[in-house]
Amino acid sequence: MCRLFEKLFVNLCVLFTLIFVYVQLRSKFNIKLKKPTVSLVYDGIAGGVLGIVLMYFSIQVADVTKVDLRYLPVMLILLFIGTYPALVCAVIIIIGRLSYGINESSIASIVIMILAFLAFVVIKNVTREGTGLYSKSLYMILTYNLIFSTISVFIIGDFQRIHLLLINFWCVSFIGGFVSVWFIDYQRKSNELLKRYEEEAAIDFLTGLNNVRKFNQVWSTLLTNAKQKNERLSLLIIDIDYFKSVNDTYGHPAGDKVLIELGNVLTNTTRSFDVVSRNGGEEFSVILPDCPNHQAVDIAERIRKSVESHLFEISPTEIIQITVSIGVATYPINEAIVDIADQRLYEAKRLGRNRVCY
Ligand code: GH3
Ligand code: MG
Ligand code: MG
Repeated sequence: MCRLFEKLFVNLCVLFTLIFVYVQLRSKFNIKLKKPTVSLVYDGIAGGVLGIVLMYFSIQVADVTKVDLRYLPVMLILLFIGTYPALVCAVIIIIGRLSYGINESSIASIVIMILAFLAFVVIKNVTREGTGLYSKSLYMILTYNLIFSTISVFIIGDFQRIHLLLINFWCVSFIGGFVSVWFIDYQRKSNELLKRYEEEAAIDFLTGLNNVRKFNQVWSTLLTNAKQKNERLSLLIIDIDYFKSVNDTYGHPAGDKVLIELGNVLTNTTRSFDVVSRNGGEEFSVILPDCPNHQAVDIAERIRKSVESHLFEISPTEIIQITVSIGVATYPINEAIVDIADQRLYEAKRLGRNRVCY
């Protein structure tokens, strides 16, 4: 009895460890795994391998009968990923079981796997929209335990001989099932949260553009790139003229609307691979990769004109117009580009605003 529980416990430990490693790896490479075909291969195979590993740690009852938690990878993939990867997983586990030998017991375990898979699919699709993860898991675990117990008793033909095994199996199956579901759900949520925090730490909450932190990060990467590939890299620093008076005249919320709208104008007047950021207050920047100085000046001039002619709707009845001053600098003509672009911006301000200095 103790030995039995011990072995099932080993099954649990193997299950949790491998789930942890796989979910972490999966979340690291999740861009590719969003494609159903890629998921079919990777998730299906990973689940299949997990099932086979669990089989390796299985408990031998009678001569050829094995008991383990191999159904759980199928159930988990079905719950968290999809039907087809779960099918691939089930097929791999069946093939794995057959490789241990074809006999009454292995045929029975294949029948159990097929019935369980079908039952899982039905439970997943039949349960109501709002049915929680844990309720679905409960139905699935319960169904599997019933299928497994019925067929085992039928095969062994002696309930007395295996009733202890079945009691242990039911306990471990419930513990293993629920803990795995909780474990994956927890990992999934915390990975999503981490990703969201990372994204939020990089964007400006008002305009949705990159914030200054992200700007610094992207800037240093692109500058290193440009130096290595000997490419030109330009930077525009853009500042709204007399923005304080917009706030003073129309109020801070109107000022915010102008900032948001200016973000849109900048995004629409630049190329898709240019990097637009709000570096703080009413100061923005555009990084122009692989862009020579004269072209950067043209783009700056285009931005200046677009802003000058743009109608900023600050309320349903009020429309205002603003202008910007822009400083331009380009690597490798300038070394300390950010400082130079800043100096040019101040020069543009000094010379009367609404102009580009380079
Ligand atoms: P200049 O032409 O010399 O740039 O004049 P300016 O008024 O634009 O520059 P100044 O630095 O004197 O004022 C910047 C103003 O930007 C002051 C501040 O209230 C406003 N500002 C900064 N951040 C925000 C913001 O998030 N929302 C709003 N509405 N205003 C902001
Ligand atoms: Mg300003
Ligand atoms: Mg400013």
